[in-house]
Amino acid sequence: MKKPLFRVASSESRFAVRPDEVSHIKQSIKLEELKERLPFYLERYHSEHIQKRTAHSLSLHCPFHEDRTPSCIVDDRKGVWLFNCFSCGRAGSLIDLHAEKTGLNPCSFEAIESVAQSLGVQLERSLRPSQADRRAWAEQNRIAYTQSKKRQRELLEQETLTRYQRENLHEKLRPYLSKDWRADLWYSSPVWADTPALATFAFIDVLFPPEAIIWMGECHETGKEKHRENFKTCREWIRQSSLPSRVAAGHFQAGSVSRSKDNVITSPFIVIESDDLIGKKPVTDEEKRRNKVLSHALAGYCQKELGLHLRAVIDTGNKSLHLWFDRPSQDALTAVRTLAPGLRIDLVLLDSCSSAPLRMPSCIHEKTKVPATLLYLDHSAS
Ligand SMILES: [Zn+2]
Repeated sequence: MKKPLFRVASSESRFAVRPDEVSHIKQSIKLEELKERLPFYLERYHSEHIQKRTAHSLSLHCPFHEDRTPSCIVDDRKGVWLFNCFSCGRAGSLIDLHAEKTGLNPCSFEAIESVAQSLGVQLERSLRPSQADRRAWAEQNRIAYTQSKKRQRELLEQETLTRYQRENLHEKLRPYLSKDWRADLWYSSPVWADTPALATFAFIDVLFPPEAIIWMGECHETGKEKHRENFKTCREWIRQSSLPSRVAAGHFQAGSVSRSKDNVITSPFIVIESDDLIGKKPVTDEEKRRNKVLSHALAGYCQKELGLHLRAVIDTGNKSLHLWFDRPSQDALTAVRTLAPGLRIDLVLLDSCSSAPLRMPSCIHEKTKVPATLLYLDHSAS
């Protein structure tokens, strides 16, 4: 790792030299040094977009478009400061960024001089790039451009796929629709728990091996020494007189005090949820009911069409179902992830379920005050 040119002084994350001091520094620098000033440039011209600063990276809302999540990462991992937007595919050096913003040709010396000017520095004359350097750049730029075009094309293809799937989603789910979905689930469930209290114990007993260390608790019960007691083996949890309202789907390593991803040693499940199968977030009771009817159909679709093995279904007590499936092979999971946007599957939950605080049966929903219910439970792993 290269030493950062701009030291981060404190948690306040101010760069050692402040951007507003730049205009007073009339120094001659080399081209490479100019490129190192990307963070600096961003502080000066796009500070309102910056979300997070560390010594070797910035994350920001992309300056080229509406960007609600910070999609743009700026870092010096490749030995030079580069930006990369995961949303629009734009990527490159300070010169590329400035050129794109100002409409200059990124391969032109004009663009480089314009960057230097905007930062109040001069380029060392003797170090003006040679013809060969400039040809090499042009080539690099051509490659970067081709790659970014390719990425944009892929994104477009994914969008088209998603749109097509969404248009046909209800058609696809139709064979799996059931008016009596709740009863269907209940009667097809291999394990029956007669009372809500029993359901909580059955849920973890059936899904986790006795020696697996699992996290249970309230959402905030993680990260401090006192939260060591939220990590117990399944066997120990079952000996408790009652169980907490939330559980993470992964197995944790011994001695964990935080349910961070790093402490997860195996993730035996994926959890699929969709909050907007009806085409939008459900608001009325009727919309919520309909979203759950469709979620049940989605469970059928995932089993029959995607070959996933259903292990548990929890009605969250609000507008959706949590569908617990055995974690499939990596290839199958990649396929699920590709199809997820079209199936309106929540990707964040899918990717974080092994460490996220998921609702147990009986967990009271904050908004509706309705307890979650266990509707289906299967003891046999695939
Ligand atoms: Zn972008």
